Amino acid sequence: MKLYDRVRTRAGRRLPASLYAAGAVAAERHPLEGEIRTDVAVVGAGILGLSTALALAEGGTGCVVLEANEPGWGASGRNGGQVNAGLKWAPSRVEADLGVEAVAFSYEAPTRLGELVARLGLDCDYVNGGGYRAATDAQGARDIEALVAEFERRTIPVRALDAGAMQAAAGTGRYTGGLFDPVAGQVNPLKYARGLAAAAASAGARIFCDSPVIEARQAGGWILRTPRGTVRAEKVLFATNGYSDGLVPGLRGSLLPVFSTIAASHPLPAPLRARILAGREVLYETGLQTVYYRVDAEGRLLFGGRGPQASAEGPGAARRLTALAERLWPDLRAVGWQYGWNGRVAITGDHYPHLHEVGGAGLVCAGFNGRGVALTTALGPRLAARLTGAPPDVVPLPVTAVKGVAFQPFWPAGVAAVMAWTDLKRRLAGR
Ligand SMILES: Cc1cc2nc3c(=O)[nH]c(=O)nc-3n(C[C@H](O)[C@H](O)[C@H](O)COP(=O)(O)OP(=O)(O)OC[C@H]3O[C@@H](n4cnc5c(N)ncnc54)[C@H](O)[C@@H]3O)c2cc1C
Repeated sequence: MKLYDRVRTRAGRRLPASLYAAGAVAAERHPLEGEIRTDVAVVGAGILGLSTALALAEGGTGCVVLEANEPGWGASGRNGGQVNAGLKWAPSRVEADLGVEAVAFSYEAPTRLGELVARLGLDCDYVNGGGYRAATDAQGARDIEALVAEFERRTIPVRALDAGAMQAAAGTGRYTGGLFDPVAGQVNPLKYARGLAAAAASAGARIFCDSPVIEARQAGGWILRTPRGTVRAEKVLFATNGYSDGLVPGLRGSLLPVFSTIAASHPLPAPLRARILAGREVLYETGLQTVYYRVDAEGRLLFGGRGPQASAEGPGAARRLTALAERLWPDLRAVGWQYGWNGRVAITGDHYPHLHEVGGAGLVCAGFNGRGVALTTALGPRLAARLTGAPPDVVPLPVTAVKGVAFQPFWPAGVAAVMAWTDLKRRLAGR
């Protein structure tokens, strides 16, 4: 069986000009040269690939990670840094679609991340400040109330909040209600991804940068070809998510690689810091288009949401978001914005992460729908177990066929239409 390659991934790219990259030293990048053998090869060094590699290496399984750029280059090193629990849908729906274990797994994922950070002593600005899910209209507030009732029935410890409590937390009257989830937290995602890479390497995983896999072929085991080398492996995990190229047939077409943009302000003056998420909680809004934000370790506001649907950098790239933030907290105008960047979020048709089997001994796990920081962390050890012989239900996701999303090639037009619609609704509602 031969997989590949209508679309070759571009490789050797520098990190995007994010706040995170500005505070990081350049990584040493060693490409794969020549031929090597291993038990499991992992394609992609985001949190998913690295968390899996770490678990494999700690368990004594030989592991090679092949990354087209450098660890954390994809969504994992440029995201909003929100460590959130759960999947998009309410627990009752997740239970019906994926089973009870998927609900528990997704709600415990932030705790797993916190434990991992503590066990490895990762320096990644992790704080378990909790998180808000915020409604911006009456229907959204009713939906959150219903959700809280569901959580209470399952003894998931969230708290319902009225508009006044949300205003006190976020320093804006934008919200009609919300909930507070104490397990949520925040990290500097690039430091976190790099910390995972260092831990995986010191446990014995071999990580190669600037090494895009340009061909994957099954011949007994797997043969993965990069421009300057070859890996022979018994098993393989494709962990390329929103940056998937044509390596696994149909994978790209099964994901909508929608861009999400983040603007980072200059450090906030003390009065604003005291008003906006003063306990370093994270917040994301419900509704058609997610706006999400947090205040980081240096007191900067990181404000994310929809923006240009192509790679873009600099605060100007996030003008739509900075304008919204300045409407919510007019004092921000005097503070100003220092960074703007974006990256690809992998959206699936059913908004669930997908697990696919490729050939006899290949797995693909992708489609974290903007919630991958905790989920991919928690999935790593499960995928590692599956790749080393544990029964399929060790991964709390059903194995499905790779299936294209309808109208996938036209996703930028779809996103533009949704953005125009939500802008119009916002203007009509005077918000
Ligand atoms: C702007 C933004 C904000 C976000 N905010 C949050 C948030 O606050 N909280 C949250 O939970 N989630 C958030 N997400 C989503 C989260 O970042 C992702 O779900 C998660 O990082 C996915 O990790 P991953 O390891 O699966 O993929 P990625 O981190 O995208 O890694 C995939 C890697 O595969 C590599 N690759 C691709 N093709 C090849 C090939 N052929 N050969 C070798 N390597 C290859 C790429 O270079 C890339 O490094 C956000 C995403 C974005 C873009």
